[in-house]
Amino acid sequence: MEINILIVDDDRDMRMLLENYLKKLEVDKIHFTDTAQKTYKLLKINNLKSDPAVDLIILDIVLGKENGIDICSEVKKHPAYKEIPIIMITAQKESEYLKEAFEAGAIDYLKKPIKKIEFMARVNSAIKLRKETKARIEREKELLKLSQELKKANQKLEKMALVDGLTGISNRRLFDKTLKNELKRAKREKSILSLIMIDIDNFKEYNDTYGHQQGDECLKEVASVLDENAKRAADFAARYGGEEFAVILPDTAEDGALKIAEDIRKEIIDLKMEHQNSPIADHVTISLGVSSIKAAKKIDQELINSFIDKADQALYQAKENGKNKTVYQSFE
Ligand code: GH3
Ligand code: MG
Ligand code: MG
Repeated sequence: MEINILIVDDDRDMRMLLENYLKKLEVDKIHFTDTAQKTYKLLKINNLKSDPAVDLIILDIVLGKENGIDICSEVKKHPAYKEIPIIMITAQKESEYLKEAFEAGAIDYLKKPIKKIEFMARVNSAIKLRKETKARIEREKELLKLSQELKKANQKLEKMALVDGLTGISNRRLFDKTLKNELKRAKREKSILSLIMIDIDNFKEYNDTYGHQQGDECLKEVASVLDENAKRAADFAARYGGEEFAVILPDTAEDGALKIAEDIRKEIIDLKMEHQNSPIADHVTISLGVSSIKAAKKIDQELINSFIDKADQALYQAKENGKNKTVYQSFE
């Protein structure tokens, strides 16, 4: 750890004497100034963002016409110098100023004539103090960095917990949360909300024919069509589980929901994903069940479950009616 010291003294002999003593201590660099202005310049006092330029200041209490105590309090105003020790040097007759010096932020003082052993002991303990604070500041910086990294990692984890790993669209967990929130909003705004449940037709045969990996690719394609069709800001597409998907359409009634459902069904057909063993077509198709809900009395889990059931029943109906179809069932 580097230790730099500043000696502020207008007496050349004194500067040389102190320099000689300091050379015997573990000091990397010694700076000298003899006026307030030069001192502020060296310490970059005008730049509030600067780091401390030195680790210890030895400051004469009287510098010609200038006053070391004023310099001390000026330096201490800078946040970077709050923890930098300042040792005042006083002549015998100036000891009445010591109280002021301590109030200005000095931590210690030395009386002229300077005794070597006293100087060495006091400067040494000031250096020790500075090294400890420097190490503490480093640790605090490190801790801050670590906690920021942790925060980022947590945010990433949180996001991961809501996203389906295979398709990259929202998962069941986020679906449940979103449906509940959107139903509450629909109640507040007295608007109609629609739900589309989607299931790939004869997907078991697809896997059996093309393999599970190709099956995964098909799921990704379907997911991206849903994502693209959930166009409005509040629209929401999720993988509900396995080869089933769901789309929430806030502020959308039967007609609008049926249109979006049909758009999705047709887009999947247009992808022309080969499915040679499907009894429905020679490409992948989907079935869709749609239901809508008007501003309900009370949004509880029971209501949510029966609303999802209704869209599921519509989906079942679509399968019964020959698949590759959209069926609507109203929810009372
Ligand atoms: P239906 O037309 O009636 O919907 O018949 P289906 O074959 O699509 O439905 P079924 O429920 O019998 O089979 C669904 C298949 O979806 C079985 C399962 O292995 C497959 N599946 C579920 N999740 C995944 C997945 O993550 N990847 C792959 N490749 N297949 C999956
Ligand atoms: Mg299924
Ligand atoms: Mg299926």
